[in-house]
Amino acid sequence: MSKSEQLFAEAQQYIPGGVNSPVRAFRAVGGTPVFIRRAEGAYLYDADDKRYIDYVQSWGPMVLGHAHPEVIEAVVEQAQSGLSFGAPTELETELAEELCRLWPNMDLVRFVNSGTEATMSAIRLARGYTGRDKIVKFEGCYHGHSDSLLVKAGSGALTMGVPSSPGVPAALADHTITLSYNEADAVRACFEEFGDQIACIIVEPVAGNMNCIPPVPGFLETLREVCDQHGALLILDEVMTGFRVSLTGAQGFYGIEADITTLGKVIGGGMPVGAFGGKRKIMEQIAPLGPVYQAGTLSGNPVAMVAGLETLRLVEESDFYKPLVARTDRLVEGILAAGKAAGIPVTANKVGSMFGFFFTEESKVTNYQQVMACNNERFNHFFHGMLEEGIYLAPASYEAGFMSAAHTDEDIEATIAAAEKVFARLD
Ligand code: PMP
Repeated sequence: MSKSEQLFAEAQQYIPGGVNSPVRAFRAVGGTPVFIRRAEGAYLYDADDKRYIDYVQSWGPMVLGHAHPEVIEAVVEQAQSGLSFGAPTELETELAEELCRLWPNMDLVRFVNSGTEATMSAIRLARGYTGRDKIVKFEGCYHGHSDSLLVKAGSGALTMGVPSSPGVPAALADHTITLSYNEADAVRACFEEFGDQIACIIVEPVAGNMNCIPPVPGFLETLREVCDQHGALLILDEVMTGFRVSLTGAQGFYGIEADITTLGKVIGGGMPVGAFGGKRKIMEQIAPLGPVYQAGTLSGNPVAMVAGLETLRLVEESDFYKPLVARTDRLVEGILAAGKAAGIPVTANKVGSMFGFFFTEESKVTNYQQVMACNNERFNHFFHGMLEEGIYLAPASYEAGFMSAAHTDEDIEATIAAAEKVFARLD
């Protein structure tokens, strides 16, 4: 019995399914989740001290790689001054100033503790600001597990087969309109019918919770246009894409502007941080300035703030993204070539340092239906083959992969070599 098997058996006695977030349980791919003891740079080490090249990167935050020495030093130093005060610190202003300087349309920003809190609060703000109840989201997009957003959701909700969760009151779910990602005409038609009742559109500007689906040209522009026409707000959920597909996320990458932007993952450098920010006149509706209530005992936590500040300082250094993207390209091309050589039909999408592979005969995957039609069984075999070879991929086919600055050319070559071996064994 491996240590992970032993630890998983123990965990299941006290924690539902043995995990604190469903996808970690390996339900989709089968087998036992790998229990991690430590991580450094591009590598995870499990409870038996087996090393893995990691392309999950804590689901996105670790763009510098794990346990970056400068981030750790800043965190340790801050921890010695106290873990939480429940009172303002200058660190919060520093990080907020940084975000407002970099992101378009971000005049004010509020910190929270997770991506879920960021999107939940952004939705409440949009409803409060517009005085409207309906929201528009897209099938297969995931914005965390708040009630209004757990309707036809992606990520673990999709993997577990509960995209619309029991426990969400029907009366609330009725206010959530779900459309197909990348279908601009459906968005226009929806606004023709309900335009004056819609508070906001929330969207992942690159969908990373149904594998990796970039927006088709014109899609994001249409969202901006209909929101402007009908007085609705556009919430770009950049929890995953922020500081990941570029320094200014998908907004910088595609030249699109949000009314409210939600952030998470990278801005906390691995600590629990989320944020939502936007135009001053919208953000001024938030308490204590305005009537829309939102709060958090641990929000703006000083240790989390320094992890974020140090991470952003490092990603803002010139030429941070170029090699990261080049290495992502190299990995994706190498794996596609390996698939081709082995006669395995596989295609890929990538944006910045985000990527995803699809086991399908189709040459391009741009929507949810295509994602759902991919060969999951083949993915599962591929996943376990790679795991055996010491390559840690997301344990479900509906998740994006992430490159970090710590991955070396040797890591990429080793990953491609592993894929060649595994493809040769796939049926
Ligand atoms: N929005 C997006 C786009 C996400 O990818 C996620 C999580 N993967 C969330 C929101 C929710 O963030 P959290 O898990 O920190 O609550």
